[in-house]
Amino acid sequence: MARIVVLGAALGGLQTALLLAADGHDVIVLERDPHPAPHDPDSAWSRWTRPGIPHLPLARWMQLAEDQLPELVREMTAAGAERTNVVAPEPGLRGRLRADDARFDTLAARRPLLESAATRLAEATGVRIRRGVVCRGFSDPRDGRPPRPPHVTGVETSEGTVTADLVVDCTGRRSRLPSWLRDFGVREVSEESGRRGFAYYGRYFRSPDGALPATTFPLVVEHGSLGLLRIPADHGTYSLCLIIRSDDRELRTLLRDERAWSAAVRLFPGADAWLAGRPITDGVQIMGGLTDRKRNLYDAEQPLVTGVVAVGDAWAYTVPTVGRGLAMSLEHSLALRNALRETCLTDPVDLVTRFAAATNADLARIYRQTTSYTRHRLAEMDAHAAGRPYDHPGWRRARALAHLARQDPDALRVERAAAHLLPGAAEALRAPVVAAAVDRLLHEFEGRMPPGPARPDALKAVAE
Ligand SMILES: Cc1cc2nc3c(=O)[nH]c(=O)nc-3n(C[C@H](O)[C@H](O)[C@H](O)COP(=O)(O)OP(=O)(O)OC[C@H]3O[C@@H](n4cnc5c(N)ncnc54)[C@H](O)[C@@H]3O)c2cc1C
Repeated sequence: MARIVVLGAALGGLQTALLLAADGHDVIVLERDPHPAPHDPDSAWSRWTRPGIPHLPLARWMQLAEDQLPELVREMTAAGAERTNVVAPEPGLRGRLRADDARFDTLAARRPLLESAATRLAEATGVRIRRGVVCRGFSDPRDGRPPRPPHVTGVETSEGTVTADLVVDCTGRRSRLPSWLRDFGVREVSEESGRRGFAYYGRYFRSPDGALPATTFPLVVEHGSLGLLRIPADHGTYSLCLIIRSDDRELRTLLRDERAWSAAVRLFPGADAWLAGRPITDGVQIMGGLTDRKRNLYDAEQPLVTGVVAVGDAWAYTVPTVGRGLAMSLEHSLALRNALRETCLTDPVDLVTRFAAATNADLARIYRQTTSYTRHRLAEMDAHAAGRPYDHPGWRRARALAHLARQDPDALRVERAAAHLLPGAAEALRAPVVAAAVDRLLHEFEGRMPPGPARPDALKAVAE
């Protein structure tokens, strides 16, 4: 069994640590932040460095977690995470839940609740978490001829050197891995990232009666050059985030103001129910530069480096609008766990090669699919701002399917299964009956502007 150092004690790092510790590895987690996520998520806003953003992992995450980490799901649920079904009937719209709809279950909660539940479980399982320890790079073992490829034997931290058979980078979307590797002599790491992205203008609420507003799904409503993301969470809390292009100067200036923000939310049908909650944070919280980014660590046939791997967001980050972060990260941790089961650390090249193959097989495809969403949605927002429709055949198909899903319970399940990355979703999408129904709708979407007011009217309503 190996000594494994995981960098980062957020959900990605904790999921990885739990899986590897369960296989008998000696796991140490190093975390920069000196304070753990508070048990009471209400206090996260004032006492914690990271905000208590509501998270709704994909149903894919729930399936994997229930199968591989059932005690994690139990701990999160016991702490108050809400079991939520993403095809749950909306009043009068979608009929009853079916016998096999449990596959659309997931959990909804604010991030500190999820993270503190995972921390409790990890510590109870024997994972050592050292807080207030900042990783600054990798240990250089080179006494004599440097190995090819270079091999990491530990990390340099604010508290000294920590040795490891394997280092797992889970420091998230801001991971400094490429610069650590460059300092270590690995020059070839490249990064691909969207040139442009989205900005979120969010507010967080608690519903007056502790229940969530009725119209919960779809979570994302896209409306011209604005989007609205509604995420339910624990204890009657939820978030409302307006999504704009990060380079949308007009809306960027307007939406900082709470009244303008509320006016923009009211452009969406059913918004009043969501705005009826009591705000639990001050002002509008802004998060910019949200785009997809992937490190080309695992694309080469020959590993660039051994002794270190990047898992989850530290490898590939996808826009939060699609909610894929936790599902991709758990899938990636499982790929690492499996690669470790198949090989031993005395052959570090074999380990990284196996992990690379698993990463490139499924996760890289999901990443590419997300970048396609981002590209098309940005183009649609641009077109809307310029007063013209965005007419791309693939995008038109996606729009037609989403429309069909709002009318037909079978299509709803096909569309949700694809959005939630459930097994068999791709085959279901290709089924002749679904393809034919989408084909019949396609002409309706030709040259159609996205729903909602024209850009000048929307700007006027927000500015008033
Ligand atoms: C607004 C928003 C909404 C989201 N909504 C969803 C959602 O609904 N569903 C979903 O599945 N995903 C969502 N995500 C994505 C999700 O948050 C991430 O995928 C998830 O948190 C996993 O991230 P991680 O643990 O890999 O990294 P992070 O959460 O970024 O954590 C990295 C950790 O590493 C630590 N660290 C950083 N640098 C160092 C260092 N040098 N040394 C030591 N420690 C270090 C940090 O302190 C932190 O604890 C959302 C993201 C955002 C921004």
